[in-house]
Amino acid sequence: MDLHSLQEVLLPRTRADLPRWSEDMAALAGGTWLFSEPQPGLATLVDLAALGWEPLTVDAEGLHIAATCTIADLSRFVAPPDWRAADLIGLCCEALLGSFKVWNAATVGGNICLALPAGPMTALAASLGGTATIWTPDGGERRLPVVDLVTGDHRTSLASGEILREILLPLPALRERFAFRRMSLTPLGRSGVLLIGTRDRDGVTTLTLTAATTRPVRLVFPTPPTPDEEAGRIDAEVSLPGLWHDDIHGDPAWRRHVSLLFAEEIRRELMEA
Ligand SMILES: Cc1cc2nc3c(=O)[nH]c(=O)nc-3n(C[C@H](O)[C@H](O)[C@H](O)COP(=O)(O)OP(=O)(O)OC[C@H]3O[C@@H](n4cnc5c(N)ncnc54)[C@H](O)[C@@H]3O)c2cc1C
Repeated sequence: MDLHSLQEVLLPRTRADLPRWSEDMAALAGGTWLFSEPQPGLATLVDLAALGWEPLTVDAEGLHIAATCTIADLSRFVAPPDWRAADLIGLCCEALLGSFKVWNAATVGGNICLALPAGPMTALAASLGGTATIWTPDGGERRLPVVDLVTGDHRTSLASGEILREILLPLPALRERFAFRRMSLTPLGRSGVLLIGTRDRDGVTTLTLTAATTRPVRLVFPTPPTPDEEAGRIDAEVSLPGLWHDDIHGDPAWRRHVSLLFAEEIRRELMEA
């Protein structure tokens, strides 16, 4: 779509090239959302691809995913054999049901910053305890868990001018067992419910709800939960009005119902494994 108010596209090569921020600017990643609907009042796009960040880096901390890494690049990542949770990467990429054109352009950072409840990169990063590194406009940097970065439907905790630089998926989480469940109302529809469970060697269990809820909800159980404990925690944590998501992709009662069914399936699967 043509963006009629647009006046310039900046191509920063280094951090020092980033402009002083104003409200008529937006960071441009893959543009699959930015160019998909009118953006009234938008005058300047700052094209993050020009910064030339390495898409994926593995080190002793885990997997560093640059915000500009595309879904296609991430889907091709070959993980070390002992990264049992690495299969989640492919499952979450496939949860973004776009054509190869969308996969080749859409970025991990764009998906998280867009903050749709059905953001599969948010699901991936939140479920593995991923940490976001954010560039602040004063030249500094801050880190926070991805689960706290996405705060609602189309809402994040990013302040004006802040740029998501990368996501770190920590090594211990990548070695954990996991279970994944996803459902949408139509075979090729957007996720209406997406749940991921993980369990470490000590039995610490997590359950992360996305798509069903307007923001990611991550529950941590120090020991494997019983069915009642798990269901009770879900209802307690998602009790705030409006937290069960309500849109064309599913109503709140259906999302809660399917979430509880999936949570129990995940609990059993992690127990059997
Ligand atoms: C066919 C189709 C299917 C889709 N399915 C899904 C789906 O299932 N789930 C879903 O969540 N989305 C879906 N989308 C929407 C969108 O394409 C994806 O969310 C995509 O990952 C957005 O990434 P992008 O790089 O294109 O972001 P852009 O469109 O470039 O940017 C999105 C927003 O994030 C901001 N932004 C981008 N990068 C940064 C950064 N590093 N720091 C700060 N702000 C930043 C931009 O300013 C903008 O506000 C779909 C789109 C299409 C066309």
